[in-house]
Amino acid sequence: MKKTKMKKQKRIALIAHDNRKQDLVDWVKRNRETLSRHFLCGTGTTARILSESCELPVKGYKSGPLGGDQQIGARIAEGDIDILIFFWDPLTAQPHDPDVKALLRIAVLYDIPVAMNHSTADFLLNSAFMNSEYDRDDVMNYNATIRL
Ligand code: PGA
Repeated sequence: MKKTKMKKQKRIALIAHDNRKQDLVDWVKRNRETLSRHFLCGTGTTARILSESCELPVKGYKSGPLGGDQQIGARIAEGDIDILIFFWDPLTAQPHDPDVKALLRIAVLYDIPVAMNHSTADFLLNSAFMNSEYDRDDVMNYNATIRL
């Protein structure tokens, strides 16, 4: 089975819907030291809030409703993002719901670890694979399945 190598230093995308931004800030603050060893990026507003309140470099894309989720999805498809931490809001309808769905689909397709709440994010960040290389499934495996 073909694999894609993730390096020891991970490229982590951080996104939170408005009602969950404080949750993400709290989680990032709690895990600031670990996260500072990796490359961080996020959708516009989330990245700005995290940079300001957690004093960590977070590369910002466009705001989610303005295409930021799609930009991050594109980076995953290009192999430039290893992990997605996405605190989406389960109680509020979002204008960019199709983009959110598309991003989650791409993350599954490219076999990217995805955390959508505190506990999963804690399990993920405390995984031994955070400190080592990891071979994830190559998307070509899906192509092979489709051809059957
Ligand atoms: P934001 O986007 O970080 O720009 O608020 C998040 C989202 O709604 O996807």
